Amino acid sequence: MDFETVIGLEIHVELATKTKIFCNCKNEFGAPPNTHVCPVCMGSPGVLPVLNEEALRLGIRAALALHCEVRQSSKFDRKNYFYPDNPKAYQISQYDEPIGEHGYVEIVVGEENRRIGITRVHLEEDAGKLNHSAYGDSSYVDFNRAGVPLIEIVSEPDIRSAEEARLFLEELKAIMQYCLISDCKMEEGSLRCDANISLRPFGQEKFGTKTEIKNMNSFRNVQRGLEYERSRQEKILRGGDAVEQQTLRWDETTAATILMRSKEDAHDYRYFPDPDLPRILLTGAYIEDRLKEIPELPTDKRNRFEKEYGIPGYDAGVLTASRALSEYFDETAKHVKDPKVASNIIMGDVLGYLKTAEKEIDELPMTPAHLVELVGLMENGTISSKIAKNVLKDMMESGKAPKVIIEEQGLVQISDEGQLKAIAERVIAANPKSVEDYRSGKEKAIGALVGQVMKETKGKANPQMVNQIIIDLINQA
Ligand SMILES: [Zn+2]
Repeated sequence: MDFETVIGLEIHVELATKTKIFCNCKNEFGAPPNTHVCPVCMGSPGVLPVLNEEALRLGIRAALALHCEVRQSSKFDRKNYFYPDNPKAYQISQYDEPIGEHGYVEIVVGEENRRIGITRVHLEEDAGKLNHSAYGDSSYVDFNRAGVPLIEIVSEPDIRSAEEARLFLEELKAIMQYCLISDCKMEEGSLRCDANISLRPFGQEKFGTKTEIKNMNSFRNVQRGLEYERSRQEKILRGGDAVEQQTLRWDETTAATILMRSKEDAHDYRYFPDPDLPRILLTGAYIEDRLKEIPELPTDKRNRFEKEYGIPGYDAGVLTASRALSEYFDETAKHVKDPKVASNIIMGDVLGYLKTAEKEIDELPMTPAHLVELVGLMENGTISSKIAKNVLKDMMESGKAPKVIIEEQGLVQISDEGQLKAIAERVIAANPKSVEDYRSGKEKAIGALVGQVMKETKGKANPQMVNQIIIDLINQA
C-alpha cells in the first residue's frame, strides 16, 4: 500500500508597523529586554487597548494579497491560557470571525501549477519571549515582543509533500515582502511556521491521524522536519500500528522530531469576545483602497517576465524571489537588446557575488543603468565577454560606471585588424607545430593559436577577429 502525504501549515507573520497592535510601544527587534513595554502590553488592571490602524491596514492587505474574502464586520476574542511569556493570561486574537477567509496561493511544482487554499487570516498580538539559560536552571522573559502585531495564516490541508510545503512558504514570504507587510526574517522570528502532517492510503478520502510539528526555524528545517515525520509515520502504519495525535518539536541537532505533548494535554482556550475592543467595521471603499496598495505579485510578475522578456520559467522564478531583485532585473531588462543576457549576468555573477559578500541586492552599489551600459559595451564589441566579467566584478565592488573602469584600466577590446594581424603573424611563426596540426586537419589546433594572441593582448583582442585572421594567414601561406 502506498500512502499520500497531507500537510497543512500555520504561519505567523509579524507586521511591519512602527508600534505595537494595542499600545504605543515600539515594534522593534533587538532592543534591550523589557525596554518596549507599558501597562497596556504588560496587562495591568484598568488599562484599555486601542487598535493600531496600521496593523489593521496591513492585515487586510495581506488577506487580499492571499485572495481572501475580507469581512466587513469582525471582532477580537480572548484566547485564555497561562504561560510565563503572557502577562495578561490571555492573548487577544480572532476566533470565529477572522478578517480574511477562503483564499489561495499559487505555486509551481515541477511543471505543474498548484493552488493551495488559505482557510483563514486573522489578526492577533504576539507573546513575549522566554530565554532559557544554557545551564537549564533558569529562564528570563523579555516582553518587548508582547503585543507586536501578528497575522496568523492557516492553509487548507492541500499540500502533498515536504517540498511543496517549502515552495508554498517561499511564495508566501515573497507575497508578504512584495506587499511590504513584513520583513519575514525567520532568524528574527518575524515569520514562523508550524505544520500538521498525516498520511492516508492513496484514494482514501478520510484523513489519517495528524501530528503537529513546531519550532521549524528555516525553510530547510520545515522540509527536513516534514520528511522525517512522513517516514516516521509511514513506518508506524506499515508496522500495523496507529499514529498518535501529538505535538512535536523539530530538533535540529539530532535531526528528529521530539514529543512535546500528547492529545490529553490539549488546551481549552475558552474563547470569548474581548469586551475592551469594539467591533471592526469596514466600508467597501476602505477595503477597495487596500486592494490598490497591492503591487504586481510574484506570480503575475513571473508570467510577465517570461512573456515580455522571453526568458525561461526557471529564470523568471529566480528573478522574482524578492521584490528588490525583480525590480532590479526589470529595470535592466527593459533597456537591453537581449534580456536573457541580463538574466544570465544577474542570476550568475550578481547573485554569486551577493552570496559571497553576504549582501542583499539593495546593498549593491552597481545600478541597473550601469549594468545596461555594460551589456551594451559587450554587444557592440567594445569589450570581450571575458573582460566584461572582470569589469562587472569591479562595478559590483566600487559602484563605478563601466566606461570609467574600462578607461582607467585600458581594457577596450582591440579590433584593429592591422594590429591583430601583426601579433598573429608572430604567434604563427613561433608555433609551427600548431600550424602543422591545423593543416593536417586538426581544426582544434587553431584554438591554441588564438589563445596565444589573447594572452599577448591580455585578453583584449577581439576573439572572433583573431580566429578569422589566423585562418586567413595560414591559408595564404
Ligand atoms: Zn505597550
